[in-house]
Amino acid sequence: MKVKIIKGTNQIGGCITEISSDKARIIIDFGEDLPDDEKEEQMENPMIDGLTTGTKKYDAVFITHSHGDHIGLIHYILNDIPVYVEKESKKIYELLNKFTYQDIRCETKDMEFNQPIIIKDMKITLFIIDHSSYNSGMLLVESKKKKILHTGDYRKHGRKGKIFEKTLKKIGKVDLLITEGTTFGRENIKYKTEEELERISIELFKKYKQIFILQASTNIDRIVTFYKACKQTDKVLIEDIFTANITKILNHTIPTPEKFDDVYVWTALRYMKKNKEFKKEFIDSFKQYNISSVVFQNFAMLVKISMLEDIKMLKEKGAITNACLVYSMWEGYLEKENFQKFVNGVKELGIDFEIIHTSGHADRETIKLVESITNPKIVIPIHTKNKKLAKEIFKNALILDDGEEIEI
Ligand SMILES: [Zn+2]
Ligand SMILES: [Zn+2]
Repeated sequence: MKVKIIKGTNQIGGCITEISSDKARIIIDFGEDLPDDEKEEQMENPMIDGLTTGTKKYDAVFITHSHGDHIGLIHYILNDIPVYVEKESKKIYELLNKFTYQDIRCETKDMEFNQPIIIKDMKITLFIIDHSSYNSGMLLVESKKKKILHTGDYRKHGRKGKIFEKTLKKIGKVDLLITEGTTFGRENIKYKTEEELERISIELFKKYKQIFILQASTNIDRIVTFYKACKQTDKVLIEDIFTANITKILNHTIPTPEKFDDVYVWTALRYMKKNKEFKKEFIDSFKQYNISSVVFQNFAMLVKISMLEDIKMLKEKGAITNACLVYSMWEGYLEKENFQKFVNGVKELGIDFEIIHTSGHADRETIKLVESITNPKIVIPIHTKNKKLAKEIFKNALILDDGEEIEI
């Protein structure tokens, strides 16, 4: 097989990997570049011949998870190339589009964990992985007795850490490991688990009556963590309307207003302006769980940076007496102007600020564990700004540039 990292040897997010066998040629992940100091978010068509322009040269595209930097550009893919996405990730992707983008539509094919998909002389299997996006997967690509494992984004300190390790052991030895290296340049420490975050949250929730939480709605592990902390501190959990829609479409062991009697919904003021159709589809079904003003003394509410007006309104109504905003996302976002505006606005209301977070990406110990279990002949790092460090981390690191091809 041949491997080419079309994009992603020198950046976090927006990685595009090409793998080809004698007969088949596939792509793994097709998302947008994340914005950083040097560039804006890239949402335009990357114009790849045979994939997004010209005539078809690829047999299929496989997506590891629903984060925008892995799935965000699939609507540019030529119509006659099938795009495989895990079922629940697909639901999240569609909902995100409806809430945030201009209702982009894209036909995809369902992909299930542990169910191989055959493309000519290639076998591709999705396996579950631990990451901060629900139902994330890694892909094992096999052809002519060679095995390539593409990890996607992963970690081991979340709620799926154990099953991830077990699955890796089942996969066993591979010829080539393509691994994400988001944390390569960061401090070599063991990351906090979701259970540890739960304990920290309980202590903090005890100190305040009202908690506002800023986190990604697709980080289901984290919702569970905060829900558990609510349980221990006599608080109800109030989900913003977008999060409520996310938890509704996923399986019902996740805290959702319809199945949990201590979970409610807050419809942010800005959604009042949405059209009838949108309201019918995404808001009306939550009516009976919706709280519109002060009902509870003790609560934890999931919020978005667009909800400063909502928090101000609660303050005016006397619903905020002793409150804290918990920030639970990558700290880098705090440097962005819109985040700063929100956080400063909240602080001006006399609300305290705390950070409770753990990374969605693997720490050094976990990366080494993946290497030792899969024992690869070659390791290619992607999704990193520090690819050169791979030489210090792995026995058999191979540092590629974008567009360079190797054969195994
Ligand atoms: Zn990513
Ligand atoms: Zn991700």
